[in-house]
Amino acid sequence: MKKGKNEKIVNNLRRLLGHGKVLSSPEDLFCYSYDGTFLYGAPAVVVRPATTREVAAVLKLASAEGIPVVPRGAGTGLSGGAVPVEGSIVLDLTAMDRILEIDTADMLAVVEPGVVTARLHRAAESAGLFYPPDPSSSNVSTIGGNIAECAGGPRGLKYGVTRDYVLGLEVVLAGGEVVVCGGRTVKNASGYDLTGLFVGSEGTLGVVTRAVLRLIPRPETRQTLRADFKAIEQAAEAITAVLGAGVVPSALEIMDDVTIRCVENYLRIGLPLDVEAILLIEVDGPAAALSEQARLIAALCEEHGAVRVRVAQTKEEEAELWRARKAVSPAVVQVKPTKISEDATVPRSRVPALIRAIKEIARKYRLTIAIFGHAGDGNLHPNLLVDKSDPDEMARAEAAIEEIFKAALALGGTLSGEHGIGLLKAPFLELEYGGPGVATMRKIKETLDPYGILNPGKIFGGS
Ligand SMILES: Cc1cc2nc3c(=O)[nH]c(=O)nc-3n(C[C@H](O)[C@H](O)[C@H](O)COP(=O)(O)OP(=O)(O)OC[C@H]3O[C@@H](n4cnc5c(N)ncnc54)[C@H](O)[C@@H]3O)c2cc1C
Repeated sequence: MKKGKNEKIVNNLRRLLGHGKVLSSPEDLFCYSYDGTFLYGAPAVVVRPATTREVAAVLKLASAEGIPVVPRGAGTGLSGGAVPVEGSIVLDLTAMDRILEIDTADMLAVVEPGVVTARLHRAAESAGLFYPPDPSSSNVSTIGGNIAECAGGPRGLKYGVTRDYVLGLEVVLAGGEVVVCGGRTVKNASGYDLTGLFVGSEGTLGVVTRAVLRLIPRPETRQTLRADFKAIEQAAEAITAVLGAGVVPSALEIMDDVTIRCVENYLRIGLPLDVEAILLIEVDGPAAALSEQARLIAALCEEHGAVRVRVAQTKEEEAELWRARKAVSPAVVQVKPTKISEDATVPRSRVPALIRAIKEIARKYRLTIAIFGHAGDGNLHPNLLVDKSDPDEMARAEAAIEEIFKAALALGGTLSGEHGIGLLKAPFLELEYGGPGVATMRKIKETLDPYGILNPGKIFGGS
């Protein structure tokens, strides 16, 4: 945006929202110039609206002036979705952070988009209810960002992802029109599923300003086990055996040898360094059924070669077992300063094949790739540990990522299980959907955002 126009827009935004909600100092702009990836983009101005009406006013101004708008929650996204487009208005939704209702009779919550995910977990829990989607970033991420990315997390295997809990939405469209879709009912077959369309749309179709979310009864209790395997194939076989035995764990996480070494170096908690994989398995439900399920899982893991199985006996032991998994993100960045976190996802039975392929790709391109993730639902997080100031290593990483995507697609999978396409995966979308598939998505984008201002460049690339 040219300097004169920029000043005019900033002044207009201040008139609409008041001084305190419009940030334009270089320090403020810098804080909004990145997300959870290594990408960077400078916005022209940041606004922090407090109401739907203020969001609508900003979008009306932006569409009239043709200025790009980048919606933003906590900025923890891992595909570059909240990275500002040059000269854009960043629409920071974290000031809209009220939990408006926890309705125990209809088992739902009504929330604003800036509510931090873990706050909703706690609010639901204190009403005896449960909001299952639990991205590992839940202490920071917002519900708006979760909806825009269709966030998942360890509990996806048993409970599904964010999409499965969104009953209704209020969304502001690019021109400032406010659309209400879905509602408070568990079923809704009225017209097109607009709610479903906005979930996972990465801020490219509209700005979520309110959400009605389904809650479920809180599980009575949970139990966690850790099983260590000499060979990653044995871990994969154990997963198949557990699921085949009719037990659906509430989480089934895997960490490979590279990840285990990073976490042990970071926490020094005595993780085994002579194994290729650790499985962390959680079951939840009525206390009476759980110890039997835990016994069965332990037996199946041992039958498939686990060298050690630990069953947490107390809340403290459970927290200790989960500590290793929760420390993975900070632990892996000890190796190299830049972490490229992918989330290729395959049908569950193809997890061993994808792990083998990724290990081979790491060898071929001389890269360190830590593999961990939600193995129970086929969603792996190969993290490429690189240094973005080393052009040769970055070029090898780029080639490796393309091969990982191709391997996942060849195994019947998808580019992204939960992080979205954003900027990083945009060049590969056509590999998954082909020309006609991407063209259909573009038509939807052009219809809902005829001005092309909402998060341009995300999903489709080339802003
Ligand atoms: C350590 C770590 C662990 C993570 N673990 C997981 C995990 O287990 N599972 C998982 O799914 N993800 C995970 N993530 C990724 C990330 O936390 C999620 O994608 C999360 O949903 C992003 O929320 P956010 O509030 O930070 O959104 P942001 O990063 O701010 O934005 C993400 C996208 O949502 C759009 N957006 C934000 N708010 C709105 C709104 N109100 N209306 C319309 N569009 C909006 C943005 O434009 C952008 O495209 C992890 C990230 C980190 C850093």
